[in-house]
Amino acid sequence: MKDIELPRKVLVGENALYEADELVFELGLRGKPLILCDDNTRGIAGDIVSQQLDCEAEVTETSSEKEIKDYASQVTEENRGYVVGVGGGRVIDTGKLVAFESKTPFISVPTSASHDGIASPQVSIKQEKPLSLRVHCPLGVLGDTKIIGKAPEKLLSAGCADAISNFTAVLDWELAHQKRGEYFGDYAAALSRLSAEIVIQKAEKISGDVSILVEALISSGVAIGIAGSSRPCSGAEHMFSHTLDLICEKPALHGHQCGVGSILTACLHNADWLKIKNALENCGAPTCAGELGIADETVIEALVRAHDIRNRHTILGDGLTEDEAWGVARKTGVVE
Ligand SMILES: [Zn+2]
Repeated sequence: MKDIELPRKVLVGENALYEADELVFELGLRGKPLILCDDNTRGIAGDIVSQQLDCEAEVTETSSEKEIKDYASQVTEENRGYVVGVGGGRVIDTGKLVAFESKTPFISVPTSASHDGIASPQVSIKQEKPLSLRVHCPLGVLGDTKIIGKAPEKLLSAGCADAISNFTAVLDWELAHQKRGEYFGDYAAALSRLSAEIVIQKAEKISGDVSILVEALISSGVAIGIAGSSRPCSGAEHMFSHTLDLICEKPALHGHQCGVGSILTACLHNADWLKIKNALENCGAPTCAGELGIADETVIEALVRAHDIRNRHTILGDGLTEDEAWGVARKTGVVE
């Protein structure tokens, strides 16, 4: 049985934030919301959403299991009707999980376009063993392109790189289908690839018009909703990034790490890794360890250990040897 979940209403455009009350009305949401933001996103967008929905925003600084459970226990049918997450990946994921735990609808209000979690039914929690959870996808998405466009350049290039990495995620998904008989969805795969392709084609225009990128990331989330798993947008390149998060004292941005991972795994797939590398360059995203600010040896360690981070069949198979890892990383110029 297929279990497809999609957002019901997505508003993307300049000043979309000022439509928050309208969105809530159209979705038939009632009661007081729990609005979550962080110290930074409160001033950027949280206060406007607060005003629109006539309710104070709460500042959340972690996404620990305990904090999420505390928030979830606050949300009952009597006191809170729905949850709103205003911020980047961490706040959105926290809100999504709080809403899921408390069985209430979630509205996603991204303040940057740095990852594909904006509209997906997926949550990743950074902890010792990173956790990837399937939850509900947001009922509504409010993407204010004026605000997202003002986010730091590196967040935009990280979003581009996360979308571009869909290419290798789909290759890994196909491989798992061929080798392990895993379910493969042509439609979800095509939609995921399309998001990557559009970002590649429009790379140079994105800093002037972020709506292309926001739509690509929302479409990636929709592909995940259609597939019923993160498969269309998360393969070995994501496992490489999660491993870097684990072993680096100062990891780089998620999308940037996935982009570099994608160059490596494309090469392992014998696919066109240069196309990925050039596309990343055009977006202003890193293409090697040095640009990530991570030592060559650490990148190799992550590549060797990545297959172990989750039980997902990819081109990494049962793992690369150190020699194999140096080989592919040197060939693609990811290390010196
Ligand atoms: Zn990602």
